[in-house]
Amino acid sequence: MRLNGPWLFRTFLYPVLVLVVPAPCSGCGDTLGPRQLLGYCPGCWDSIQPDRYNPHHPYQCAATRYAGLARTVLLEAKFRDRPELFRPMGLRMAAACRTAGLDRGFELVAAVPSHPLTLFRRGYNPARELARVVAGDLGLPLAGRALRRKVLHMAPLKKASREDRRLAARSAFTARHGAFQGKRVLLIDDVLTTGSTFRGCRSALLDAGASAVRLLVWGRTPAASSGGRWPERHL
Ligand SMILES: [Zn+2]
Repeated sequence: MRLNGPWLFRTFLYPVLVLVVPAPCSGCGDTLGPRQLLGYCPGCWDSIQPDRYNPHHPYQCAATRYAGLARTVLLEAKFRDRPELFRPMGLRMAAACRTAGLDRGFELVAAVPSHPLTLFRRGYNPARELARVVAGDLGLPLAGRALRRKVLHMAPLKKASREDRRLAARSAFTARHGAFQGKRVLLIDDVLTTGSTFRGCRSALLDAGASAVRLLVWGRTPAASSGGRWPERHL
């Protein structure tokens, strides 16, 4: 979590300020009411399309279809320094998890780690911010930084084959043995695209002794909808 001036302003002062000074909705421009502290009016939040739980993909769950305002909200939170948006997003993810019946049986929540250099530049990991809200809402502990992205891991070249990309994603992550031993892990990320990041993290977690890993994301891209089933060791 970054602790600079803009972050402190948006997180603590902005919510107080808009109680006094009416602010426009970031989505439609309507004036926000005094209790609508999060930059979007209820109408805009409601316009975000939920993702339909797909029983053919039982190991992943998305709160939204990654398009329109669902995409805008994430991009604002990630790249325009709007960390206050992670809370309503995380609460929607927890609700989607309950709706899909995936909230039972987990013992630990973990976040897909950012690359250390990205974390250094941005100051926070969006997946971890979402994971903190989800863990709090589901009443589960949040894993520390025991799941890591390797610093010196080379990203696959643009022309790399599908298989090379899959192998690269598999070796990009490492999980500390002991932290996940015997645990059913709910893994959190912001967007699901090809699923290669999830499979990489999942391999690392299973290698570290996790008994099951499932994925909960804010948004699922159309590319993710055609992915295959991923077998679990147990669950
Ligand atoms: Zn609006």
